[in-house]
Amino acid sequence: MKIKFWGVRGSIASPITKYSVEQKIKKILELATPADILSPQAIDHFLETLPFSLKGTYGGNTTCIELRTDDNKVIIIDCGTGMRSLGKSLIDTDKMTGTGEISIFLSHTHWDHIQGIMFFLPIYIPGNKINFYSSVENLEERLRFQQTKTHFPLTMDEMAASKSFNFFPEGVWEKLHDIKYTSKAVRHPGGCFSYKFEQIDGKSFIFCSDAEFNIDTMDEIGSYIEYFRDTDVLVFDTQYTFEESLQKIDWGHSSAAIATDIAIKSNIKKLILFHHEPFYDDSKMDQVTMQALKYKEMIAGSHSLIIETAYEGLEIQI
Ligand SMILES: [Zn+2]
Ligand SMILES: [Zn+2]
Repeated sequence: MKIKFWGVRGSIASPITKYSVEQKIKKILELATPADILSPQAIDHFLETLPFSLKGTYGGNTTCIELRTDDNKVIIIDCGTGMRSLGKSLIDTDKMTGTGEISIFLSHTHWDHIQGIMFFLPIYIPGNKINFYSSVENLEERLRFQQTKTHFPLTMDEMAASKSFNFFPEGVWEKLHDIKYTSKAVRHPGGCFSYKFEQIDGKSFIFCSDAEFNIDTMDEIGSYIEYFRDTDVLVFDTQYTFEESLQKIDWGHSSAAIATDIAIKSNIKKLILFHHEPFYDDSKMDQVTMQALKYKEMIAGSHSLIIETAYEGLEIQI
């Protein structure tokens, strides 16, 4: 399977600012030498040497991930604002123009995970099939509530694609296309579910956002360690720094330090830091990444765990 990130931000969409762009340009100009700008090739080479926060951006859209199975079926995980661009892409490249079918897994219905639905063009096209899956029991009712006339011009019934709502209980393994999936409830205000996807060959992926693993409950997470164990790619909520997480107990999010502890304990192969704090700019996100890498080295030396930070456009083959 392959996963692609279309929205990585937590809580609320947070577009890059003019000030932030100016700061990037200033720093790049300060770093450049005359030799770095002698030719287009020299410029390309120079840009490659820059930190991610200067030459790119982590992105401001809220949670949306595309999972593409080996038999090329599309599963979307959460419907944050990143879903708008994904919808356009599916129409352009996957024939979601009236004969397409996709599946959507929803972890919970906080705004930053559902706002993209109304701007997802394939859901307006008759003939398309959109199948929702969730361990949230009343998902359809909750989504319809978002589109009452006081909140949005169109109701869900006015979206022309056919829609199905498929509840599955926590912990049960089900099959979809050529993969199987299950869920596990996580600590989060109002409730939330993590989803685990496993291929026939055993390769696995876990989405675990909006999940609070904090210092006060680290002695009671045995069942989670078993759930996470040996997973190839774990996308994990790391909205706060460790210091912030101590002050924000019960706010529903974790830190990169706790995520690293859990990933080491569970023998995860690749940990993806995710659901970034909306107030953090790109240079702060570089710092979060560096601190996580240093922390891993401190607690586990040369352990093979790979840690990366999610950005819009990141693709991972599993
Ligand atoms: Zn969220
Ligand atoms: Zn949430």
